Amino acid sequence: MKQSFAIIGLGRFGASVCTALIEAGQEVLAIDRDEDRVNEYMDIATHAIVANAQDEMALRSLGLRNFDHVIIAIGEDIQASILVTLMAKEMGVTRITAKAQNTYHAKVLEKVGADRVVHPERDMGERVAHQLISKNILDYLELSDEYSIAEIQISNDKFADKSLLQLNLRQKFGLNVIAIRRKNQRLIVSPPADEVVLLNDVLFVIGETKDVEHMDDVMN
Ligand code: ADP
Repeated sequence: MKQSFAIIGLGRFGASVCTALIEAGQEVLAIDRDEDRVNEYMDIATHAIVANAQDEMALRSLGLRNFDHVIIAIGEDIQASILVTLMAKEMGVTRITAKAQNTYHAKVLEKVGADRVVHPERDMGERVAHQLISKNILDYLELSDEYSIAEIQISNDKFADKSLLQLNLRQKFGLNVIAIRRKNQRLIVSPPADEVVLLNDVLFVIGETKDVEHMDDVMN
């Protein structure tokens, strides 16, 4: 379904969100106070406008309330990011996603009304670190402070050629398998208990991050 997005700030993060949304067939209004940035995205975004979002009149004239999502991708200028989030909330924007530079910034953004706060540098750093430490965890997505979805590759004979029932990951590690990716096959979504896991299969598991790490340790 086509949705409408307004992105304020076309730095590296905002620009990459803009490009990905357009590639996914969505409608994007791109806003930046820097004319050169806006010119760069004129032909990429659905619409691109030069505006200083900190200026309340300018922000009001954008009609942000009419968008399904507003993304505040102002990075360096933390004060501007907080003020624009606050004003967007006061204008009645339904879904605000804001980019935080650090933990304190994130807390303030949540307080002033961001529905979702993202920390791209921190999150990517954590993902890369996990991938570097473990040869089994190919990727992982943090759902909250405690829970994650991880892609774990079965690299150990002890785990291979056994059904999910026999592996019993729920009892042993507190993890649920939501899908299996097998070479040259379609993704097996919600695998049945009698599905036999093969060497080099990738399991998508959901559970507490500490339990994912425990399973990874046991497999190493
Ligand atoms: P990143 O780390 O994602 O590259 P930057 O801080 O470098 O983020 O970029 C943020 C962008 O937001 C810049 O293009 C900047 O011009 C824009 N920006 C900053 N403040 C405002 C504002 N008040 N109104 C509109 N755009 C802004």
